[in-house]
Amino acid sequence: MTMTRFSPSLVRFFVWNLIFPAGIALSGWLIPAGWAGEPSAPLHGFGVADSIGQVEVGVAYYLPRGRIPLPDWRERVEYHMKRAQSFHHREFGKQSKLTYRILEDPFVASASRDEMPKDDVDQFFWHIVNEVWNSEKFTFSPEAFPIILVLSDVNFSPGYGDWTRECDGIGCPFSEPHTDCAGHVTETGEDRPGTRCGGARALIWPERHIGLALVTADGWRVPITGTDCVVYHEGVGHSLGLPHPEPLNDSVMGLAQYVHPIHKSWIDADQKEAMGWVKHEIDYTDLFSSFEVSHAPSRPGAQDTVTVTVKLPEHFAVQSIQLEYQTGLWLPFRSARFQGQEERDGFQYFTWTIGPVPIGQSIAYRARVATRGGQQEEFWNYYKVRGKE
Ligand SMILES: [Zn+2]
Repeated sequence: MTMTRFSPSLVRFFVWNLIFPAGIALSGWLIPAGWAGEPSAPLHGFGVADSIGQVEVGVAYYLPRGRIPLPDWRERVEYHMKRAQSFHHREFGKQSKLTYRILEDPFVASASRDEMPKDDVDQFFWHIVNEVWNSEKFTFSPEAFPIILVLSDVNFSPGYGDWTRECDGIGCPFSEPHTDCAGHVTETGEDRPGTRCGGARALIWPERHIGLALVTADGWRVPITGTDCVVYHEGVGHSLGLPHPEPLNDSVMGLAQYVHPIHKSWIDADQKEAMGWVKHEIDYTDLFSSFEVSHAPSRPGAQDTVTVTVKLPEHFAVQSIQLEYQTGLWLPFRSARFQGQEERDGFQYFTWTIGPVPIGQSIAYRARVATRGGQQEEFWNYYKVRGKE
């Protein structure tokens, strides 16, 4: 197979790459005669005939040999997979069912971190993905479209710290192409996934009837607004053949990761229709779509107490709700101080506060709700105190 090579200076979302340069995607359509316009036709991958009425994602937490797994890695993986699954079902309705299975234990690599490919990000991808694929730890139902999704504990660039969101050490001690390690920060001071150090990418391999995806540590290990978009973008979207939309927009196959969490995003209708999707009204009233979590100020200073607010429609009867936070990736979560609750304009608001932390320190938090109707939802986020500008 051929791979398109990209400059490492390109940011991640432009390097989904590999199998489908536009010309091939357009000429490679293999839709059986009679499918076009048939409302009952099953959904198929973008540009391929493989049915995606059922999608099975095998998920591996990939750990270089000799490295210690995060104690709560499974909660972090589960969080992203649940978000991806809820989004997929909202966007495709009953036309495509997505299930996933997470390997029980971390996938311990044959190579240590130092032995992994260092110079070429595509080689890095194939080194990891091939090892998991060849292990045959996953089996898939014959009727399902299979995807192998690897969530790695490391990034292509060894210096990037996903907790600090910058190069570890003073300045960047690494040579090209591993320099310029910085996480993406919006104009309002909020963190979003996106760094040149990562290496996440994915492809559909039509001849092998499989999707293969790698989300590197920068895209999931510390869940922040938009990491759910990264996991879906690579682990489902590109793996089912979806390209970036033209023109680029804020959909999940576009720039969503830099803008909003996945429940605020979408897949363009024309892309879905090219996969055989029969148009129907999308339901945005479920708990997944209407559970909002935010913090203020958006750019906290060292003196600032941060208020975290959960907002949800008042018709959801809350049975329990918590906000927990951690001050380091390896430190336990603890409860935040509950401030109060009010109802206003059809919504209920719950607030908590987290005390000030010094410049350079980071907080990760997660809000979890359970309703009396038995529904559960959670949202994780993060902020770093960088000082006032
Ligand atoms: Zn992409």
